[in-house]
Amino acid sequence: MEAGTLYICPTPIGNLDDITLRVLKILGEVDLIAAEDTRHTLRLLNHFEIKKPMTSYHEHNIREKGPQLVQQMQEGRSIALVSDAGMPGISDPGQDLIRLAIREGIEVVGLPGPSAALLALVISGLPTEKFAFEGFLPSKGTDRKKALERIRDEKRTLIFYESPHRIASSLKDMLDILGDRQASLSRELTKHFEETMRGGLEKLLSVAEERNLKGEMVVVVSGAEEVEPEEVDVKRELRKLLDGGMSKKEAVKEVVRVHGVPRNQVYQDSLDLD
Ligand code: SAM
Repeated sequence: MEAGTLYICPTPIGNLDDITLRVLKILGEVDLIAAEDTRHTLRLLNHFEIKKPMTSYHEHNIREKGPQLVQQMQEGRSIALVSDAGMPGISDPGQDLIRLAIREGIEVVGLPGPSAALLALVISGLPTEKFAFEGFLPSKGTDRKKALERIRDEKRTLIFYESPHRIASSLKDMLDILGDRQASLSRELTKHFEETMRGGLEKLLSVAEERNLKGEMVVVVSGAEEVEPEEVDVKRELRKLLDGGMSKKEAVKEVVRVHGVPRNQVYQDSLDLD
């Protein structure tokens, strides 16, 4: 018997019009929908008049449920995986089922669609050429600080998911550890009260403290600045050392060690000196 397929179906992150025609088609065609919260997904299905059996697949039952779902697909049934919002597998439980299905030889077909992270990134105005998705920072202050310290030198634009009751303390830690970098805070994306604030982390922190912001949010922070290599007058440094009695070879070695200038460059400069 031919095995079924696992379809990864992204759903709107607020505005129901953001569901794609293809996701609707697949939801209508599969044998079963595995949803993070079946009551939540039922509202979506009712809105689009889709009637399908559903089963729950959430962080507390992934261990038992994953193998059961895989078995159903091995028996020929196709399953659509949806999370509460956005792209299943991004900061929600979908990833385990996807990995398990791949391991068991089930075909996995992903459909494109909404994800809060990419949307917040592109409207942040910060560089998009390279970025790092950090998901949720740890909720405990000390762990959060450690996590931020680990990425302090990351040059790519950083994307964080955050909850409203932790936003002020997270922004404060970001400001303390990353410095007053350019950033954006997007909340309630695609919803009625959608807004994006842009500016330094200090400004965003004061807004978060003053306004007691509500709703779902994404913080995007610019990466660490490239540190310009120190401007060194290599020949002058070499001359000082030679005048002090060092051999050329020793002087080259010393300039490389102290100033971090590439050895080749120091060597070439040394050839012009007596
Ligand atoms: N799988 C989802 C995705 O692809 O975006 C993310 C799920 S994660 C459990 C939920 C987090 O996503 C929220 O805490 C928030 O950081 C972000 N998020 C989801 N919807 C959002 C929205 N409409 N506006 C801003 N952030 C949102």
